[in-house]
Amino acid sequence: MIDFVGAGPGAPDLITKRGAELLAKADLVIYAGSLVNPALLGLTKPGCRILNSAGMTLPQVVEELSRAEAAGLRSVRLHTGDPSLYGAIREQLDELAGRGISCRVTPGVSSFCAAAASLGAEYTLPAVSQTVIITRMAGRTPVPPGQDIASLAAHGATMVIFLSAGMLPRLTEELLKGAYTPDTPAALVYKASWPEEKLLRCTLSDLAKTGKQAGVSRTALVLVGDFLKESGYEKSCLYDPAFTTGYRKGEPCGSN
Ligand code: SAH
Repeated sequence: MIDFVGAGPGAPDLITKRGAELLAKADLVIYAGSLVNPALLGLTKPGCRILNSAGMTLPQVVEELSRAEAAGLRSVRLHTGDPSLYGAIREQLDELAGRGISCRVTPGVSSFCAAAASLGAEYTLPAVSQTVIITRMAGRTPVPPGQDIASLAAHGATMVIFLSAGMLPRLTEELLKGAYTPDTPAALVYKASWPEEKLLRCTLSDLAKTGKQAGVSRTALVLVGDFLKESGYEKSCLYDPAFTTGYRKGEPCGSN
């Protein structure tokens, strides 16, 4: 059994308890060195073999994990944030399954959750947005047809854009083809939950300039949408004194 573990966004105490326990028991840890906080490796036991996957290929990673499994050792494949987002885990799981090796995934706190937490923001504000679009600009990894930024921006929903902080001028252009305007609020969140975290609030019109001035071009998320406005949302029905829920009686304020 090989454990794929979400390391969380960076702060070492934002890994799950289960993830930390698996790290502590591991004989081999292969971690995504470009983004996982190395402080997490301090949770491993003495003698644990530690490999940085940044310099490895998929066949090398699979080979190391398979060999450890054959030797009866416990392995953890440590991915940043939550492994289900831009983690490239599926190809590893499939290769290992093809070798008859079973795997288990332990979720992690994604950077998009840490970014909202640091901003004190809520992505899904009533009357503003009830939808979060998680996406990226096409880079060396292409984006399938119909999923380009301009098409997704047509909804005017909350957008969380990964892997795109190095392309802010082009990203802004694409976003403006949708429902957003130059005044739409945006934020660039660099290394959410790390000591060097930067929270840069701006509008779409000055997003590129903001990134350039702060020297932020990687390890950052771009957040876009009116959920970042200082006011203009409606209060939830859930906590409205007039609203009846399964737990409390009141007068309905509308449907949820
Ligand atoms: N699985 C990860 C995402 C990996 S893709 C997750 O759930 O967060 C790598 C991209 O994630 C980076 O280019 C950046 O856009 C974003 N990212 C990862 N960690 C971050 C952090 N602490 N703060 C801001 N963005 C981060």
